[in-house]
Amino acid sequence: MVGGYMLKALRVNLSKLKALIQGVSERFAVEFIGGRGWGAKILYDEVESWVHPFSPENKIVVAGGPLSGLTIPCSGKTNFSTISPLTNLYGDSNAGGKFSCELKKSGFDALIIEGSAEKPVILVVDDGRVSFKDASTLWGMPSLDAEKALKEELGDDFQTAVIGPAGENLVKYAAITCGGRQAARCGVGAVMGSKRLKAIAVRGDKPIPEAEPESLKEMFREAVRWIINHPAFNLWKRQGTMQSVNWANEVSCLPTRNFQEATFEDFMKINGDSMEASTRLRNKGCHLCPIRCGQVNRVGDVVVEGPEYETAAMLGSNCALSSVEDLVYANYLCDQYGLDTISTGNTIAFAMECFERGYLTKTETDGIKLRFGSVEALNEMIRRIAYRKGFGAILAEGVRVASVKIGHSSERFSMHVKGLEISGYDVRAAPAMALAYATADIGAHHNRAWAITYDLKVGRETYGEDKVRWVIYLQHIRPMFDCLGVCRFPWVELDLDPNYYAKFYTYATGLKTSLEQLLARSEKIWNLTRLINLRRGLRAEEDWLPARVFEDPIPSGPLKGLTLNREAFTQMLKKYYELRGWDERGIPTRAKLEELGLLDAPSLTS
Ligand code: SF4
Repeated sequence: MVGGYMLKALRVNLSKLKALIQGVSERFAVEFIGGRGWGAKILYDEVESWVHPFSPENKIVVAGGPLSGLTIPCSGKTNFSTISPLTNLYGDSNAGGKFSCELKKSGFDALIIEGSAEKPVILVVDDGRVSFKDASTLWGMPSLDAEKALKEELGDDFQTAVIGPAGENLVKYAAITCGGRQAARCGVGAVMGSKRLKAIAVRGDKPIPEAEPESLKEMFREAVRWIINHPAFNLWKRQGTMQSVNWANEVSCLPTRNFQEATFEDFMKINGDSMEASTRLRNKGCHLCPIRCGQVNRVGDVVVEGPEYETAAMLGSNCALSSVEDLVYANYLCDQYGLDTISTGNTIAFAMECFERGYLTKTETDGIKLRFGSVEALNEMIRRIAYRKGFGAILAEGVRVASVKIGHSSERFSMHVKGLEISGYDVRAAPAMALAYATADIGAHHNRAWAITYDLKVGRETYGEDKVRWVIYLQHIRPMFDCLGVCRFPWVELDLDPNYYAKFYTYATGLKTSLEQLLARSEKIWNLTRLINLRRGLRAEEDWLPARVFEDPIPSGPLKGLTLNREAFTQMLKKYYELRGWDERGIPTRAKLEELGLLDAPSLTS
């Protein structure tokens, strides 16, 4: 039998409060790797194109990957795939921690959650035994408190995935919290809320099969040696991704005041150094992670894991917040309410710009002076969004819908792609990163292709084919990690050779597999999510960016005056379709689907 996989999925119907154990075919497991690959294929096969994201017919596929929980560094990622309420397209998001490890030890590679419970429930999977608990005492409870309460009740050996008030109130960018870490993008928490599923708790004692355990251990030692001897290792331990604030400001890609500026005059007040000097308590890591990039911070009597760079950029500079203490507290509020800090910061910054332009007045904003830099306005708006109170109900729909409701042509600076709020990079002088955002399957998220470092390497104003090829390569290799169930940081930040992951896969499963083979499967999955999106009505025009990046020059700093060149970018996009084997409407050709083996791909049990 193939190792790494449990070859079992647990299908849970919340409408009937019933669970069914299904055997998973080896061919399916291998062809779609795991994590987001499994999620995409199950949604493609089982969710009709007309299904509303909040309908009981929508599903959530929760899955680690074949490397989750094994003797492999950083192998605790859990992926949540669903139809996103923000984009109405395929969506996924992942969290670190250990949830997927316990899920596998409980006997399952994946949970397939369908239906909708009549009353709030908690799904408990205890070493393969399934039960449903009444969630009425937890419903309404903030995420971090709910996780604590659940562990107190069930035991510390359970790993949990919970939603907060934002998920319960169907805020379109609600997050799922796993051990204090967030699967935050695409509104996966809102879909969980629509199913009245407050929490999932898992634990298990079963061994996860490994084909060559001694080889895995040897590779583990080698990889850890590489990681801890890397020159950047210590800074990663001390600051995690917060170290990137300085870099982003220096290279003019730090979103500031709703992406109007690309540098922030107070960046030193919200960077990793200020965090270390004032709020940082310790670091924290996921399963078998030597890096432990998570930063635990304290303000007053509040303790929270975070912020990360993305949070500093979107709640910090993008809302013009000038204090790391305020940043930590806003991060805490988002985590407690169960909100994505990226979408929250993006959407509130948009509203702040509307207010400052006079498109909104205090009458519309519930009496709040929604000005950049106002921590009171920011925190109050976070609360209002989570509870859909007053003006918060408009922002709870996401920036795309909010701009339609506010009008005044505000969609030209409504910073999203396909409905997903743009994360922490200004792309006016970064054509490769712009292409990555425009073409990402879930909307504008950097984790699909963090191409900005290539822009820095080869030129901020070049639009060549090399950039298109690099974006496509990244769109295969980065999501590959989300399929395997491991963190990408050892590779992308600490230069661990990606061939290690092919070897880990080979030793875990017993199937000799090269990096090229894994990348080919990841390409297949990329085309599959494209098919889901096309089936749900996606048009090529949506592979595009807000007008601001083409029309509003960077106003200050070393790159003053630059915008993205519309004509050159259009040519890049055409080349992207061509190199992908898609037609001019962005539809994969039949020949491409045949080449990828998507026309006769296996389903979960076949
Ligand atoms: S590097 Fe950070 S995100 Fe990645 S596994 Fe380690 S602690 Fe988790």
